[in-house]
Amino acid sequence: MKFFPQSIRWRVQLWYVLLLAVIVTSLLVAFYRNQREIKYQVIDRELTDPITRILPQVDKRPQPPQRNRRLPRPGPGPGLGPGDDFERPPDRPQPRREDRELELEKVATELADRGIYVIHWTRRGEVSFASEDVPGASQVRPEVESGGTERITKRTMDGFREVIHTGGPGGVLILGKSIMPLEEELSSLAMRLVVVGVAIVGGGFLVGWFLIGRCLKPIERISGAAHRIAAGDLSERIEVGNPGSELGQLSGVLNETFERLERSFEHQVRFTADASHEMRTPISVILAKSQFALNRERSPEKYQECLRTCHESAQHMRALTDALLELSKVDSGEFILRTSKGQLADLVREVMQMIEPLAEEKKVTIDCSLEDLTIDYDEQKIRQALLNLLGNAVKYNREGGTIEVSLKGDRQGVLLTVVDTGPGIAPENLSQLFERFYRVDRARKREGRGGTGLGLAITKAIVEGHGGSVSVTSELGTGTVFAVRLPGRHGSGQPE
Ligand code: ADP
Repeated sequence: MKFFPQSIRWRVQLWYVLLLAVIVTSLLVAFYRNQREIKYQVIDRELTDPITRILPQVDKRPQPPQRNRRLPRPGPGPGLGPGDDFERPPDRPQPRREDRELELEKVATELADRGIYVIHWTRRGEVSFASEDVPGASQVRPEVESGGTERITKRTMDGFREVIHTGGPGGVLILGKSIMPLEEELSSLAMRLVVVGVAIVGGGFLVGWFLIGRCLKPIERISGAAHRIAAGDLSERIEVGNPGSELGQLSGVLNETFERLERSFEHQVRFTADASHEMRTPISVILAKSQFALNRERSPEKYQECLRTCHESAQHMRALTDALLELSKVDSGEFILRTSKGQLADLVREVMQMIEPLAEEKKVTIDCSLEDLTIDYDEQKIRQALLNLLGNAVKYNREGGTIEVSLKGDRQGVLLTVVDTGPGIAPENLSQLFERFYRVDRARKREGRGGTGLGLAITKAIVEGHGGSVSVTSELGTGTVFAVRLPGRHGSGQPE
C-alpha cells in the first residue's frame, strides 16, 4: 500500500519531481543557449575583424586611383552606415596595386592559419580573390546587391559560419570558418548539462522522498491508530509528536474525538446494562408473585396482594420504558420541542395541584411565590420536568416538611426554584445526580420503593433543550434546592 502509485506520497513526489525537472531543464537550456550565443559572437567577431584589413586591399582593385574618393571606414561592428564614411586625406600617397596584392596574400595566409577562408567578388561579379580552402557552396556569389549602403550579414551554411560584407565600392566579401569544433564543444557542453540536470533531479527526488516521508510519518501514525481503534481497541490514542504543527493539532482533535467516542461507547454499554438490570427487578417480582399464586390455591386476600404487587411492578416497568423512550429520543436527536408562548406560573400551579395528594399523604405543605411571566416553552415537556422536581421534593422530603416553589424573572430570563426540607444530598453525590440511573440511596431501589433513577436526567435534557440550565445545591440535614433557569424575553400579565 505504501508504494501504491495513488498514494499521497507518490503523488506529491511526482509533482515535486516534475516541477523540479521543468525548472532545472529551463535553467540549463537557457544556460546552453547563452553559451552558444557567446561562442557564436566570438566566432563572428573573429570573422568580422579582418574585414577592415582586407577591404582596403580589394575595394580599389578594379578602380583607378582617384582623389577625394569617399571610402568606407573599416570597423568590427555589425555594419557601416553611410554616415560612417570618412574623407581620406587628399595628399596621402595611394599604395601600389602589387603592394595591395601582397598585403592581401599576407592577410589571407594569416587567416588561413586560423582556419578562416576569404573570397571576394568585384562589383561586376568576378571573383577577384579566393583562399584555397573555400568550400564549394561558398564559391557561389550570394544573391545580394553589391552597391548601395555597406552591410555585414552572417550566415551558417553546411557546417561553416560566414560573414558577408556587401555594399560600397568593394563588391562582395565573404570570410568564413568551419563551426565543427564549436559544435563539438557545444554538444559536449550539452551532454555535461544533461548529466548535471539528471543529477539535480535525481538528488531532488531522493531529498523529496526523504522529506515527504518525514512529513507523512504523523499521518501514518494517525492511520495506524485509527485502524487499531476501528479494530475495537477504543483505548488507543495517537502519539502527538509536535502539538504545534498542523498534523499535531489534527492528532489532538482526533484524540479528543476518540476519547469522546470511548466515553460514549462506555456510556452506552453501561446504559444498556443498567436498563436491563432495572427491568429485571420488576420482572422478577411479577414472576415470583405469579408463581406464588399459582403454586396452590390461596385465599382471596393473598391473590389480591399478589395482583397488587404485580400491578405496581408493571407500573414501574411502564415508567421505566417511558423514560427510556424519552431518553432514546434525546440521544437520537428526535427530541423535538413544540414551543408556544404561555404563562409559566399557570403551569407551575397546575403541577402543584397534581402532586397535592402525594404531599398531603406525607403531610408536606407547599408554599409558592410565582410571578406572572410569559415565555416560549413546550408545555408538555416542561410539565414533565416540573413533575419530576416537585415529585422528588415530596418523595425525598421528611414527614410534615415543606416545599417552597418560587418563580421570578430577571434580565437573563426566568428562574424557578424548588426548595425542600428533606435530608439533603451529600456533596460527593451532587455531581452525579443528573446521570442516568443514578440514585443516592441505592437501598430504596432494592426495596422496590424507589423511582427509576431517570427523572433528573430527563429534566436536564428538557431544560437544556429549551436552552436553559438546571443546578442543585444541598445541605445534609437541611434540604435541597433545585434551580431551573430558562432563557427568553418575558412579559407580565396575559400571554401576548
Ligand atoms: P428517582 O426516580 O430515583 O427519583 P431521579 O433522577 O428523579 O430518580 O433522582 C435521582 C436521585 O436523586 C434520587 O434517587 C434521589 O436519591 C436523589 N434526589 C432527587 N431529588 C432529591 C431531593 N429533592 N432530595 C434529596 N434527594 C433527591
